[in-house]
Amino acid sequence: MSQSIDSLIQKVRSYNGKGDTRIIREAYEFARTHHADQMRRSGEEFILHPLGVAHILADMQMDETTLAAALLHDVVEDTEISLDEVKRRFGPAVAEIIDGVTKLDRITFANREEAQAENFRKMFVAMARDIRVVIIKLADRLDNMKTIGHLSEDKQREKARETLEIYAPLAHRLGISQLKWQLEDLSFATLYPLRFQEIVQMVNQRRPEREDYIQQVKKDLQAQLKQSHIKAEIEGRVKHYYSIYSKMKEQGKQFDEIYDLFAVRVIVSSKEDCYTVMGIVHSLWHPVPGRIKDYVAKPRFGIYQ
Ligand code: MN
Repeated sequence: MSQSIDSLIQKVRSYNGKGDTRIIREAYEFARTHHADQMRRSGEEFILHPLGVAHILADMQMDETTLAAALLHDVVEDTEISLDEVKRRFGPAVAEIIDGVTKLDRITFANREEAQAENFRKMFVAMARDIRVVIIKLADRLDNMKTIGHLSEDKQREKARETLEIYAPLAHRLGISQLKWQLEDLSFATLYPLRFQEIVQMVNQRRPEREDYIQQVKKDLQAQLKQSHIKAEIEGRVKHYYSIYSKMKEQGKQFDEIYDLFAVRVIVSSKEDCYTVMGIVHSLWHPVPGRIKDYVAKPRFGIYQ
């Protein structure tokens, strides 16, 4: 589906049939009008950027307020439109989110050390009285990373490093894995193009056998769940490139020595079912001692559960 405003609205309707999409279309028209004389470095119309950000957020099934704010997120910073005007037209909720995003944009640091991970992350979370501000910021970074090729090589590396050190861990912390792995893989491809290509190639070579294996695991699990009358959705996937690379590096291993190249996810609708499924999984395969983490009983960083 091409990334147009119509396809955006269609996407929103698919998960939120009753939602009022008028504000999304109005935000789009407003942003398009006011960014009209601006171009991206790629030579494309500027509006494609906020539109791309909104699409990323619609894939995450975010609400209309967030999508309207995403479409307008660069209007206050990059055009003559004031925050007050946005507030008058689109309401205080949208304006507050945009204000938060704009303030995050303005954080700069005197040097690298200062910018480094922990402080920056804390600042992010503290400033984000509304979590949607941070989520838009992450989607903004992802859209920028997708078009990073139009920057100078130095700038590309700088952005990629920052993304890997700050934005991807932040996405991870918030439990937004679909943003995390995309941010990581795009940064990885920019920073270490040869290693990236190598891993892509190795993964592709072994893809068929691995996909067979995942299918088999899914089938076995499905059969057991059915016997126990548990309704569940099972997803299996091959791990992402950067996570394979990190594992090789951290553990000093060759590609062929990495065994956990797959991940299987079982989605159930209650906590009780979740523990029952874990019991079933352990009866089918042996757990690895010391590697079981219970983020249900003990949320990660107190956030991710
Ligand atoms: Mn932006």
